[in-house]
Amino acid sequence: MSDTAEKTYPPSDAMAAGAHVNADAYTRMYDASISDPDGFWREQGARVDWIKPFSTVKDVDFTLGNVHINWYADGELNVSANCIDRHLATRGDQTAIIWEPDSPEDGALHITYNDLHANTCKMANILRDMGVGKGDRVIIYMPMIPEAAYAMLACARIGAIHSIVFAGFSPDALAARVNGSEAKVVITADQAPRGGRNTALKTNADQALLHCKDTVKCLVVKRTGAQTTWVDGRDYDYNALAAEASATCEPEVMNAEDPLFILYTSGSTGMPKGVVHTTGGYLVYAAMTHEITFDYHDGDIYWCTADVGWVTGHSYIVYGPLANGATTLMFEGVPTYPDASRFWQVCEKHKVNQFYTAPTALRALMGKGRDFVKGADLSSLKVLGTVGEPINPEAWKWYNEVIGGGRCPIVDTWWQTETGGHLMTPLPGAHAMKPGAAMKPFFGVKPVVLEPTSAEVLQGDPVEGVLCIADSWPGQMRTIWGDHERFEKTYFSDYPGYYFTGDGCKRDEGGDYWITGRVDDVINVSGHRMGTAEVESALVAHGKVAEAAVVGYPHDIKGQGIYCYVTLMGGEEPSEELRVELRNWVRTEIGPIASPDLIQWAPGLPKTRSGKIMRRILRKIAEDDFGALGDTSTLAEPAVVDDLIENRMNRS
Ligand code: ATP
Ligand code: MG
Repeated sequence: MSDTAEKTYPPSDAMAAGAHVNADAYTRMYDASISDPDGFWREQGARVDWIKPFSTVKDVDFTLGNVHINWYADGELNVSANCIDRHLATRGDQTAIIWEPDSPEDGALHITYNDLHANTCKMANILRDMGVGKGDRVIIYMPMIPEAAYAMLACARIGAIHSIVFAGFSPDALAARVNGSEAKVVITADQAPRGGRNTALKTNADQALLHCKDTVKCLVVKRTGAQTTWVDGRDYDYNALAAEASATCEPEVMNAEDPLFILYTSGSTGMPKGVVHTTGGYLVYAAMTHEITFDYHDGDIYWCTADVGWVTGHSYIVYGPLANGATTLMFEGVPTYPDASRFWQVCEKHKVNQFYTAPTALRALMGKGRDFVKGADLSSLKVLGTVGEPINPEAWKWYNEVIGGGRCPIVDTWWQTETGGHLMTPLPGAHAMKPGAAMKPFFGVKPVVLEPTSAEVLQGDPVEGVLCIADSWPGQMRTIWGDHERFEKTYFSDYPGYYFTGDGCKRDEGGDYWITGRVDDVINVSGHRMGTAEVESALVAHGKVAEAAVVGYPHDIKGQGIYCYVTLMGGEEPSEELRVELRNWVRTEIGPIASPDLIQWAPGLPKTRSGKIMRRILRKIAEDDFGALGDTSTLAEPAVVDDLIENRMNRS
């Protein structure tokens, strides 16, 4: 592997001295969290304000047939009061949300905690008047506008359970989630501007609602002012109602284990699951990880580029930051509009201190060249973060040098929709980072590496196997909406007694963790098991390759062969010589065993809307079995798949 993979990057002395958690504190706190979880989490429970204090902390069983997960179970609180009301006395005039619109020509908004309170209360009162009460489900299908955050917090305020559906999803995907959650109301907007184009959200909602019960109501927020069709009695005009609504609303008293939201996972591995998160433990965990992972300090400007349609937007745009009284930036647009300098322009404009994005965005921007970064003053940046997939060392290095100027720690946060918050990450002031490593467990998290078939716990270092978690943490999902049996089967049956993450992992000689990708993505070539991520990293390290996805396919001699989908950098032409060159490149980078059997040129790769490669589809194409691709409702650009099928390389 390239030399970046071995070099480590310790925190600067200044970073270590000023951070919430330095190396000594990490060890001390981690040990305490494992030896006395009850005591540790009892103390952390004080991060939020309780209406009625909890007396019990943890009540958990991972035994198949009896799985239950409860935290702070007899405590009572309200999430919106924690994210807003408790800050009003000290920071009512502080900016809670900076909103940066799709077009830089339109001005940004600065929404104070006082504004946030008034707007959330209005939305809450409107929802109550529409008949929404405690425990009812509300679907949020919105652009990245402040009203999306008001909607989430308004639901939390009145005890309704929200389920956000990403605005890029189709009417079919929306209808499935309205029906699956038996929602009473859909909150949407007339249009969603993104990258200079407007998606007709209300029109999509109209189409979806044709396939839902006719009692479902629709609350429509004005974004662009575009004309929409209107169904009297079903559709409610948010802006007209908000002008009249009261700006105060008593928060509902919620039990710690009442559901806060349902979120359908992106579905890169199968049918979407309605992941359920509850109130108390989730908020404690989101607040704690936000503060410590990003080393957030009072007065910092924090920006997570995710969409509220993903769990990252829930925990690290809205709930975590606002529970901490932070200033959180909400961005409506895309990284490449009007051009590939947009992220860096926004960082400069709002003097962003912590910046959190996905490897897929970094790779895309890296491919556009450094000129787009040069013009921006990025000196405000202190901590950088990534989430969503393993970051290949090449992209890590670019992020570190070109964006962070070599002075910003990069937190490579490994977690899942199911985990509610970060489970593994280096901490900015504590750990010597290794490019591509998720490094260390967060407090209270007990990772174990198991031998995949025998389920034996692998001791010592280094080891490689499947990643399970031996005990609960407060942010853990509680069930799959309406299907507890599927919950137990999916996460607790393959490796009894453990939470099974579905990811593979290795622990190196230094005891640091590396996520190797999903277990489904491990291939077995002539008896050698390897993670596809390793081959992908090698390919992307080649100067002409922008992106690569690797899957296995049945091979007569080797058992499985290595099938690579390769997207070239702009300006590069596919050729037979380049194929040979790439094959040799991988052989020297990793070894002959990893030599690609088939390389298909891919103008684009099938991705979920959150930017994850859908390898299950690529596997089907590589197997020459593309009749049943499974659920494709979460695909960003379905046309990409047709091209790949047409030009597939393995034809029987
Ligand atoms: P589904 O479970 O429906 O297939 P999904 O797993 O893509 O959807 P998420 O919960 O958003 O939906 O993704 C979690 C997964 O993303 C992890 O299990 C892991 O495979 C990958 N991942 C997230 N962050 C990282 C990271 N920092 N390093 C490596 N992999 C990561
Ligand atoms: Mg998953």
